[in-house]
Amino acid sequence: MTSPVWHPFTQHGLNEPIPRIVRAEGAVLHCADGSSLIDAISSWWVTTHGHCHPRVAAAIATQAATLDQVIFAGYTHDPAEAVARGLVALAPNGLDHVFFSDSGSTAVEVALKMALGYWNVVDPRRVSIVVMEHSYHGDTIGAMSVGERGAFNRAYEPLLFDVVTVPFPMAGREQATLDSLEAACAAKPAAFIVEPLILGAGGMLMYPAWVLREMAAICARHDVLFIADEVMTGWGRTGTLFACEQADVAPDILCVAKGITGGAIPLAATLASGRIFEAHLSTDRAKMFFHSSSYTANPIACAAAAANLSIWAEEDVLGRIAVLSQGISDRLAGLDRVAFTSPRQQGTIAAVDLVTGDHGYLSSVAPALRAFFLERGLLLRPLGNTIYVMPPYCTDAGQLTCIFDAIAEAGMLFAR
Ligand code: PLP
Repeated sequence: MTSPVWHPFTQHGLNEPIPRIVRAEGAVLHCADGSSLIDAISSWWVTTHGHCHPRVAAAIATQAATLDQVIFAGYTHDPAEAVARGLVALAPNGLDHVFFSDSGSTAVEVALKMALGYWNVVDPRRVSIVVMEHSYHGDTIGAMSVGERGAFNRAYEPLLFDVVTVPFPMAGREQATLDSLEAACAAKPAAFIVEPLILGAGGMLMYPAWVLREMAAICARHDVLFIADEVMTGWGRTGTLFACEQADVAPDILCVAKGITGGAIPLAATLASGRIFEAHLSTDRAKMFFHSSSYTANPIACAAAAANLSIWAEEDVLGRIAVLSQGISDRLAGLDRVAFTSPRQQGTIAAVDLVTGDHGYLSSVAPALRAFFLERGLLLRPLGNTIYVMPPYCTDAGQLTCIFDAIAEAGMLFAR
């Protein structure tokens, strides 16, 4: 019998195999047929310390038996309070208010609504959003609106709002981005939203910290709210807890999700500076922040996030990340420069472009590579001809070697 399950980003008409995963541990996924896979992309970038981390799993079990769920409008609970305090302590300065939601997309929706809510009070003429070319911020309507337009969202264009787009800061062309942002900011938009240091789904495109710092400075000069979407880059992926740290940037609004629970269970948070919170502060109920979802700050998810924060506080996670980053760097340097171009890396995220005439997210090389890696016991999911790795921090040297040996072999077989 065919399954009634409709999978995300999956063309069911191609009848590609869909492995059934029954168990996971560390960097390994175990399949129903007895085989196993190294999770080289942290299951869509969520798993940080490793699958089924005992401290996170124990926190979830204890919380599930204590307080499973409670409405968060007008009620609170210890796990949410602990996580909010922990986030404020860890985040760049000035982000003193934490609004919970349940995915990266909703963290972005909340950020956009906070920005518009702020300007609605301070200067209602400021409504437009500036974005960066090739960005990805999620699949809800607002998140798609501020992301790259293309195959991902063409059918939904009539629902998307207009934005002002600045070019991606390609190496050697950074000034064009800064000039474009300066011009866009002079027109007094509400906010600029950007993925710090790495544009993820847009192709693992990387740009240097000084550009991030300059972009934040331009926004500050024009009083444009700076929204950092750290849904992918947060929780150590780029070598620091948050990518913004590398540019010494304190955004007005910060979006975090994915690794906030170590990747075990959905939770997201949008952190805001005092002025954004205060613009919503009033004795008038009509001026409150109008956003919620049923599971806002679910206690079980918050308990997992609290356990994740304890791991960060008590273990040398950055040390582990440094070792993994070095291992990735060594192996990336060994890849053939004829088969692969543009090797790039930030912390534990690395990417190369396979040399092929077949480009773009919908290129046929991507599913062929995916199937090839699956046969070799690897979960890798190229973005078009861009092969990237983003493994959990517990990935060992042997597993890294397996990942990069398979990528090297793919270069020999698929490069044209
Ligand atoms: N923002 C960025 C930078 C992302 O990479 C993603 C997802 O990959 C999202 C937002 C959306 O997150 P979610 O898939 O949890 O909705």
